[in-house]
Amino acid sequence: MRKKVSVIGAGNVGATTAQFVVQSGIADVVLFDVADGLPQGKALDLAEACPLWNSPSTIIGTRDYTDTNNSDIVVITAGLARKPGMSRNDLLHANADIIKEVCTEIAKASPNAIVIVVTNPMDVMAQLAWKTTEFSCKRVMGMGGVLDASRLRIFLSRELRVSPEDVEALVLGGHGDDMVPLPRFMTVKGIQITELLRKNKIAALIERTRNGGAEIVSLLKSGSAYYAPAAATFQMIRSILLDEKRMLPCAAYLNGEYGVKDIYMGVPVILGKEGVERIIEIRLTGEEKAQFRKSCASVRKLTEKFSI
Ligand code: NAD
Repeated sequence: MRKKVSVIGAGNVGATTAQFVVQSGIADVVLFDVADGLPQGKALDLAEACPLWNSPSTIIGTRDYTDTNNSDIVVITAGLARKPGMSRNDLLHANADIIKEVCTEIAKASPNAIVIVVTNPMDVMAQLAWKTTEFSCKRVMGMGGVLDASRLRIFLSRELRVSPEDVEALVLGGHGDDMVPLPRFMTVKGIQITELLRKNKIAALIERTRNGGAEIVSLLKSGSAYYAPAAATFQMIRSILLDEKRMLPCAAYLNGEYGVKDIYMGVPVILGKEGVERIIEIRLTGEEKAQFRKSCASVRKLTEKFSI
């Protein structure tokens, strides 16, 4: 049986995620959107590329949730994206209504699916998706840390003039301005970054990563980043569908891990066929803990607005 991935929202991130899945051939795709013509048009365009990619994947575009029935994975990208000058949090109320509507439908159509939430503010929307679907928390997660770490990796690799493949980075916490990049875990082929770069340079690259989304929004003027967000989402999809058990930083439900309870936060997890199969708890220093708590407090402040 071929695997089925439904992508809700056929905008920039959704359509590009759909592209990466069909191009890889690892699953069939259903692209859903409320806008008439958009999901159908983009899906047809992608289907016409499949012979050129030697891909066996099928893809359809739809406005009907029954087409998404029995999906293995549902990716949620539906909602508004940032405009210049807007923070991720400015999207809160409009996107919360969309997430509730989408998740009510997903729970009916695909009760066994694993859900990846991309819509911002992502950590809050992941928690709302978990509450609305009433799925096990192992099957609902958010994409943020994989993207933030990839941004940091490319900035580090350019600075050091080494292949980004050899650069590792770990970013914890909420997917927002309070994200927690950890220099202790940044390495080039196992060599700590502090051996290779001055502290103030590392700090500047971390700051650029924090503003990575806003930098692209201000360049594009309309719309926000989507190639790297879709590539990050695809890495998560692949790890789940192929049961790769990659260790990736994702927004996961914490129930006492890292000393916090009842909140979605970015932490390293093992992603496999069951979804979030394990949360990896690392011992943080006092300063790292303080940053992590600050990030939790920002996310909690937003979740409290919905009593979720
Ligand atoms: P976009 O505007 O290009 O696409 C959004 C799509 O959602 C539109 O096509 C719209 O018609 C659709 N939509 C709206 N309401 C819907 C509903 N009720 N049901 C189904 N579809 C609906 O935006 P984008 O650039 O693709 O970004 C999508 C979301 O992802 C935004 O919230 C953005 O902030 C977020 N995002 C998150 C990350 C991350 O790292 N987590 C990265 C990039 C973007």
